[in-house]
Amino acid sequence: MKSKPRVAVFDFTGCEGCELNKLNFENHLLDILDHIDIVEWREAMDDQVAEYDIAFVEGSISTPDCVERIFDIRNRTKVLIALGACAVNGGMNAMKNKQSLDTVREIVYGEDKDLFPTLPALPLSSYVTVDYEVHGCPMTQKEFLQLLTSILAGKKPVKPDYAVCVECKLDENECVYGKGMICMGPITRAGCDALCPSFGQYCIGCRGLVPHPNKEAMINILIENGLSIDDAEKRMDLYNSNEKDVVLI
Ligand code: SF4
Ligand code: SF4
Repeated sequence: MKSKPRVAVFDFTGCEGCELNKLNFENHLLDILDHIDIVEWREAMDDQVAEYDIAFVEGSISTPDCVERIFDIRNRTKVLIALGACAVNGGMNAMKNKQSLDTVREIVYGEDKDLFPTLPALPLSSYVTVDYEVHGCPMTQKEFLQLLTSILAGKKPVKPDYAVCVECKLDENECVYGKGMICMGPITRAGCDALCPSFGQYCIGCRGLVPHPNKEAMINILIENGLSIDDAEKRMDLYNSNEKDVVLI
């Protein structure tokens, strides 16, 4: 009988929400375990192994220790998958990169700051080759299962390259701009089925940007709808601080 792929799960700098999301897979867990062997996962088991076929990695790389660990994981896995915003593009952690590292350490650790070496919060792909990405903060179970199913079936996973607005329109939602809110849907990568607007809330851009976003137009929309230039920049940065080329009007 063909052996099942060995799967390991790792976490770096982040809230571990994406991992917890996986642990909540009550309805699918037994089906998943029919097809993979989970061999290492700090949140759920004590075992450690030398090599794996698939490594799921959550969190951004933000310390020298993280750098050492992600190279080690890359050397030990055939496939490496970035899970969630922090791993894919640095996520909210990357707001740290807007200030000097010394200032950040002082704010967080005060007079003990020298005990805690730190680096800019960067995506896994800044250091190692990432084979697949699951966007979102947290990632959705649906997308995780779609990706895993595709990989196990030997197919290339499909990743939406259009904006949340497209899904929002397909869902026939009323645009929240009409209700006086501002929304990052026009430049945010789809795949969540416009989750927030579907519940009457605005999109904060947790899935990162679409390829080739028109950032200037987005900034204009934010300002035309009441934000100051400073607040518009902060809204753009919330999940995209590592996107360096946002140009303000
Ligand atoms: S609510 Fe947001 S995602 Fe939906 S159409 Fe309006 S701007 Fe786009
Ligand atoms: S609507 Fe926006 S903020 Fe909400 S889950 Fe989707 S991408 Fe994230």
